[in-house]
Amino acid sequence: MKERVRDTVAVHVGTRTEAHGFHGTSPPIEASSAFVADSVDRLYAVFKGEPGVVYSRLGNPTVMALEGAITALEGAAGAVAYGSGMAAIHAAWLSCGVKRDDLVLTSRDCYGSTLTLLRGVLERLGTRGMIADLCDTEAACALIAEQRPTIVHCEIISNPLMRVADIDALADAAHGVDARLVVDATFATPMLFRGFEHGADMVVHSMTKYLGGHGDITGGICAVNDEQLLAALRHTVIVTGAVLSPFDAWLTLRGMRTLPLRMAKHCDNARLVAEFLQSHPSVARTHYPGLASHPQHALASRLFEKGRYGGMLAFDLKDATREQAMSVLASLELVCPATTLGDAASLALFPAASSHRELSAAELQELGIGEGLLRLSVGIEEGADIIADLDQALARGRP
Ligand code: PLP
Repeated sequence: MKERVRDTVAVHVGTRTEAHGFHGTSPPIEASSAFVADSVDRLYAVFKGEPGVVYSRLGNPTVMALEGAITALEGAAGAVAYGSGMAAIHAAWLSCGVKRDDLVLTSRDCYGSTLTLLRGVLERLGTRGMIADLCDTEAACALIAEQRPTIVHCEIISNPLMRVADIDALADAAHGVDARLVVDATFATPMLFRGFEHGADMVVHSMTKYLGGHGDITGGICAVNDEQLLAALRHTVIVTGAVLSPFDAWLTLRGMRTLPLRMAKHCDNARLVAEFLQSHPSVARTHYPGLASHPQHALASRLFEKGRYGGMLAFDLKDATREQAMSVLASLELVCPATTLGDAASLALFPAASSHRELSAAELQELGIGEGLLRLSVGIEEGADIIADLDQALARGRP
């Protein structure tokens, strides 16, 4: 064969790696858009359903390794990763086959963009949306029986008020009318809660949060316990193209290796911080399911494993004004006022102007998201240091 010119060689060099049968202790980042097989026949057999990878939107080895990890942790039939938590929720709903005139019933205690996805996107396409208090179990089950939705969607621990949904009861009610129950378990992670053991049909996570754990990725995942739903999820990511990048999959896999340790520390610290805030003179109310005073403490104790209640909490300032809330945020020195959660570092935000900014003043009031509400993602620093920072910020934030 004619010797190739250097420009051609430069295009191909290093793309055929030889590992001599060895592989790393860390998975490789397969950044390839497409893949070749040892024969063209084998390559094209993948399009007929044979196992293999041909093109990263259809399946990428690093992303598949992550999907396998979540499948194992959730005890699922499979999982499909997406480019963000919102993309995972969108795909979950689409994969349930929701169409015009179907009803999607969503808990009112949800992340703001989830509610906007329902109202601003699905409702515009003719799907009916209903937002109700799904943490009021009796009323929620009666509503499901009466309204017969196609999908029931809730968060296991809600954003930002840390209300807990009774998944077993909601699953029974949903299945009674052939609805699918989609549970967003972002705040709990598989370390606290395994949705399929409580009847969920789909469990979604924003991996941007605890699963990644270091504030350096954006991703989402949906796990299912049913092969048909799994095929629908895979089809959805292929046709909508909301794929996770191999690099983000790799970082998430790396983050997940320390998830059990991190969650244990997040939970221990959050309990300490909640107890501190509960007795602080500037704080009117602390929302944390681990406190005996939380209205759903008993339910949370039944649902969550190892007596842990998560790393997220919220609190209402006695001086419930936006100025005061912003002043406390600005006074924090260790806790970072960033609009995310689940990082190793402690984070704080003002929900009314960030995570829930898309809701009207009346909706915020109805939900109980007041002008004096602050949300904390308690990190894995020394608990006493987090408390000291909150203490000084609450003191300096006072007018
Ligand atoms: N679900 C919950 C509970 C969230 O808090 C968020 C974001 O904060 C999302 C989903 C959306 O995740 P992402 O930002 O990765 O799209």
